[in-house]
Amino acid sequence: MPDLQSTVDAIAAEMAARPDRGDVATYIPELGRVDPGQFGIAVALADGRVVAAGDAEMTFSIQSVSKVFTLTLALGLAGDRLWNRVGREPSGSRFNSIVQLEHERGVPRNPFINAGAIVVTDHILSGHQPKEALGEILRFLRFLAGDETILIDRAVAASEERTGFNNRALANFMKGNGVLDNPVDPVLGVYFHHCAIAMTARQLAKAGSFLAHRGRHPETGFSVVTPERARRINAIMLTCGHYDGSGEFAYRVGLPGKSGVGGGILAIVPGKASIAVWSPGLDAAGNSHLGRIALEKLTARMGWSIFGGEGDAASR
Ligand code: GLN
Repeated sequence: MPDLQSTVDAIAAEMAARPDRGDVATYIPELGRVDPGQFGIAVALADGRVVAAGDAEMTFSIQSVSKVFTLTLALGLAGDRLWNRVGREPSGSRFNSIVQLEHERGVPRNPFINAGAIVVTDHILSGHQPKEALGEILRFLRFLAGDETILIDRAVAASEERTGFNNRALANFMKGNGVLDNPVDPVLGVYFHHCAIAMTARQLAKAGSFLAHRGRHPETGFSVVTPERARRINAIMLTCGHYDGSGEFAYRVGLPGKSGVGGGILAIVPGKASIAVWSPGLDAAGNSHLGRIALEKLTARMGWSIFGGEGDAASR
């Protein structure tokens, strides 16, 4: 197997040189100001080591990658009862589709499209003040990453508060259908703020590690979720983590993954590694363009696809 450090170094160099970088998200104006020339990659291993290259120490807006962690928290609170409120089928639609939600009477297809993640946030908020719920999410990420410096980027949250008309429409529609328990404004407030958490690729790779190791936090040995739950969260990441680009991501990369419009992707190699890539330019489905390409190269070179293909490595 090729050496991991030299493989990620080579991929970071290739990504830095590519002219095709995708387009940064502009519907959240603050994200539109990010330089698309950046690329970072970090791979967290079972022993807690992190192998990184490129802009792996730059913070970026994790956006929808946060939905993996809010889903984990909500499942911890509700258990399988959560699935009465949100489905677990791929949507085949854009991440903020209103048409699909109306068609399904306000019950979102899965917890990773915006409507589904808003329901998950509603669940976490119940019985708490918005500040407490947000504090819970932030503390969870800090614990998982082993890093107390992780913060919410208030400018990004305020930017989305000002322009989040589409999410407001989704939330109002769900409220109208009796799907949300709490008032729309505080639910969206918590949602916008957890999307605005800023992390580095190194921190994000570490935070996702429990999903690669049967629910166990590798450094502390703490059991974050049961092996069964880790497996199931990975399954939903594989089928729904990239919205209407999930099939393409499974085909090309072959790993459970979750993207965000900040350009981050968290991908899990069960039993081996948790990978975070970041490049702000997006493809047409709203997923990081170079992030996906980098992961495709990494899984092929390391033979890491969950669908097999160790033989690929020799041919690259
Ligand atoms: N905060 C963003 C939104 O709700 C998250 C979307 C994403 O990352 N795909 O639109």
